[in-house]
Amino acid sequence: MEKINAIIAEMNTVVSSPKKAVSAFKEETGKEAVGCLPVYCPEEIVHAAGILPVGMWGGQTALSKSHTYFPAFACSILQSAMEFALNGVYDNLAAVIIPAPCDTLKSFGQDWISAAPQVRSIPIVYPQMSRIEEGVEYLKSEFEIVKKAMEEISGETITDEALNNSIAVYNEYRKTMREFVKAAAEHLEIITPAIRHLLIKAAFFMEKGKHTSMMKELISELKAQPKVEYKGKKVVLTGIMAEPDSLLDLFAQNNMAVVADDLAHESRLFRTDVPDGEDGLERLARQWPLMEGCSLIYDPQKKRGQMLIDIVRENRADGVVLCMMKFCDPEEFDYPIFRKELEAAGIPLLYLEIDQQMPSAEQARTRIQSFAEMLDSM
Ligand code: SF4
Repeated sequence: MEKINAIIAEMNTVVSSPKKAVSAFKEETGKEAVGCLPVYCPEEIVHAAGILPVGMWGGQTALSKSHTYFPAFACSILQSAMEFALNGVYDNLAAVIIPAPCDTLKSFGQDWISAAPQVRSIPIVYPQMSRIEEGVEYLKSEFEIVKKAMEEISGETITDEALNNSIAVYNEYRKTMREFVKAAAEHLEIITPAIRHLLIKAAFFMEKGKHTSMMKELISELKAQPKVEYKGKKVVLTGIMAEPDSLLDLFAQNNMAVVADDLAHESRLFRTDVPDGEDGLERLARQWPLMEGCSLIYDPQKKRGQMLIDIVRENRADGVVLCMMKFCDPEEFDYPIFRKELEAAGIPLLYLEIDQQMPSAEQARTRIQSFAEMLDSM
């Protein structure tokens, strides 16, 4: 347990102060850091240039200046990211990559130009018609722009070899994280919902190879622990993200563990590998059409409901918790479809509204308590 606790403590230091972690990387390596807005970002290209890709998923902060750019009905991730930008929190980044899979991100990209002109922005558009060759070609051309920008920032050419090496680092990270969520589900007495989230989140502020080797160590330590049957209820989280931490603590307080997730902030980022091939940019572009079950990706067959049912069954979960990011249109569009499918499969579903600036978790406490009681009575 000593080793497990040491890894958790080290990752906690990173997550508690991402700015320090980024500065330490820059000092140690002499390289730059680049921000990556949600949800998907070709981090491998950034990594191949020796640059640290940094996840920019908002955070808890008092909102005031961001109201100049966003109405109150914008999601809290982008409101807080804008607040941080206006307060100079991101000034140590050489650039930010801004994808545009939803309307709020589209306007965020435009707003950034006047809100934080000191930090270069690199827009990127992921095509919705991803499964046709033209979609792959188009996405590859978008990635060319990111590659060129990273070469300008680093002053170095990104070779095919470097890009393919970075893809290998990221595929190894994805495989390791899939192993981690499985190992964590076998040790719910150790990996509480907040610790699970922390270990996944730390990867946003660490070089992926370093994060992966720490996670491998943690997994082997976890596997060496005696198995203890978890006495509480097991849930699967779905949605964009499950924050703040006080919310995750409520699950543990009500004898509930997170046994798997379908969160954009967590498993959706590592459940699909980049396919094999020779041309690195093309490989990255071919990963996009392989992704499924995400509200931000065009999916005419709407597979998310069945995917959730499969995750619940595979993990013998007792129910699903939808972490509905307040004012997130793409998630709101998906919800009625998968709710019906979960209902038909007899899987209990809790709808929880997520707002990073939630002043108190009291409202969520009552809902989580009632859900726990309902699961107990089943
Ligand atoms: S939470 Fe929803 S609305 Fe906000 S950036 Fe993500 S997809 Fe867009």
